[in-house]
Order: sequence, then structure tokens, then C-alpha cells
Amino acid sequence: MMAKILDGKATANDLLENVANKISKLKANGIVPGLAVILVGDNPASQVYVRNKRKKAEKLGINFVLKELPKDSTQEEVLQLVEQFNHDEKINGILVQSPLPKQIDEEKVIRMIDPKKDVDGLHPQNLGLLFGNIKQYYPVACTPKGVITLLNKYQINVDGKNVVIVGRSKLVGKPLLALLNNLNATVTLAHSHTHNLEEITKKADILIATVGKIGVITDNMVKPGAVVIDVGINRNSDGKLVGDVADNVKEVASYITPVPGGVGPMTVATLMEQVVELTAVQTNNENLLE
Ligand code: NAP
Repeated sequence: MMAKILDGKATANDLLENVANKISKLKANGIVPGLAVILVGDNPASQVYVRNKRKKAEKLGINFVLKELPKDSTQEEVLQLVEQFNHDEKINGILVQSPLPKQIDEEKVIRMIDPKKDVDGLHPQNLGLLFGNIKQYYPVACTPKGVITLLNKYQINVDGKNVVIVGRSKLVGKPLLALLNNLNATVTLAHSHTHNLEEITKKADILIATVGKIGVITDNMVKPGAVVIDVGINRNSDGKLVGDVADNVKEVASYITPVPGGVGPMTVATLMEQVVELTAVQTNNENLLE
């Protein structure tokens, strides 16, 4: 059996089309969604991520404001900038690109973001709403939300399924745990202290890897017919982008996301979706939320 591809690029393009429609509706009411990105220092990977976000935002006609700060910036300088965007009416979403230089306390910066503008869904208030499964709109981290959109697109139902997530980051693994649990999946969250990982992953109907290590998931760890979502983005010795899941897993899985072209494009498209959703909520255009 050869796994079918979960095409993140095509799904992201469909999502972006939908987002563009909503933006034209907002614009008809004189509203332009605004996204502010704060980039501290000169991390090359962060620069690439920010450039991708800018390209997508500008193509959609989102007001994209990039504020770059030198790597020796103080905590106070970053907090002040966040405050400035909190009060800026033209800005609906604020994103602080991680990682931050070590003199800056990332938690403090995230807490300073107005939860209504927290486009990465990392503010404790939004995490609380997510883990409480509270029935109202709140932003959710874009990669996990994008994974759910991708599963929906292929009509992969998670209700009652065994889902195993490998990796418990605040940005990916933990929000996924909550999202999937809210959708009635039975979720196991594995990490570097997990014993007998292979035994656990083999029980997964849906296996999600978000580790950041090449080949951490191999074919013998996957139940035949499982759906495999590869969140990892790693560079191999040839400089090529590869995921966390070994190549031969596609011979056992029923569906699999490619890297690149899987979760990556979903993340950026979901960021655009969420800027528009936050704008809709802030401007009493809730009818644009689906
Ligand atoms: P992270 O913060 O880098 O943490 C890695 C996680 O993997 C930790 O929870 C760690 O456990 C766990 N881990 C490490 N080695 C392990 C092992 N041998 N077995 C089981 N678990 C292990 O995670 P992240 O931010 O989620 O990033 C993971 C990968 O996803 C990276 O490659 C990143 O570039 C990529 N990523 C991609 C996207 C996208 O849009 N596609 C978005 C975000 C991240 P402990 O907690 O015990 O240390």
C-alpha cells in the first residue's frame, strides 16, 4: 500500500481563497486587516519565516507592519513595542517571532500582548479557553489549527480515534492535544521521557510528529493504515528540507503529509485566516466567522 498525500499546499491555497473573499467583504466596510510582526535579532530562519508571512499578507492586501529590533534590545523595549501595537487601531494581530534573544523573557512578552490580538494563540487567557473548551471565539496556535483544517479537508474524522502526538511544545504539541481532545479523540502526548515510544505510536490511528529530528518516526513504529502528520522541518546533510518521519513510512500509512508542502503551507495560510478572524471580531463582523 502506498499512502495518499495530504496536500497542504493545495489545501492552503483553498483556504487563502476563502480568506481573500472575507478580506474583500471587510474592505467593502472600509476595514483593512492589520498584522504586526516583531522580529528581534538576526536569526536567519526567523528572517525566512517572516519574509514568507509578509509575502502572503501583502498578496492578500493585509496591512503588514514589520518592526525589527537589534539583538541587544532590552526587555523594556520589546514590551513597549507590544504596548504600542496593542493600542494601534490599524493592527488586529500581533506576532512576536520566536526565538527571542536570551535577555528577553518570552513569557512576559506574550503576556503583554492584548489577548484579542494574540494571533499565535499563546497568551495564557487563550490557552485557558482552548483547554477549557469554552464555546466562544479565541485564537489558537496556527500550526495546530492548520493541522485540523487539513484533516477536515480530507474528511478524516478524529472522534473516538487514538491519536498519538510526539512532541509537547507549547506552540504545537500541547495545543494539538487540546484541539483533538475537544474533538473527542483519545490523545496521547509523548515526549523525550516517554518509555517504549514504539509501543505507543503503534496504537495510533493518527500519528503526529513534532520533534525536530530527522527520521524519529520509522515504519516499524506505525500501524498499517494510520494517518501520519509530519510537522517537523529539518535540514538534512544535503541541505534539503525533510520532516521527522522516515521516507519508508509512506509504505505503511494510509495518508501522509509531505515535507515540504504539508503542514508548512497550512501554518502560514492559517495565520492569514486568523488575522482576518481577529479583525472580524474586533470590528463587529462576527458573521465572517465560520
Ligand atoms: P520543540 O520545542 O523543538 O520540542 C521538541 C519536542 O520533541 C519536545 O517536546 C521534546 O521532548 C520532544 N522530543 C525530542 N526528542 C524526542 C525523542 N527522541 N522522542 C520523543 N520526543 C522527543 O518542538 P516544536 O516547536 O513543536 O518543533 C518541532 C519541529 O516542528 C521542528 O522541526 C520545527 O521546525 C517544526 N515546526 C514546524 C512548523 C510548521 O509550520 N510545519 C511549525 C512549528 C514547528 P521534551 O519536551 O521532553 O524535551
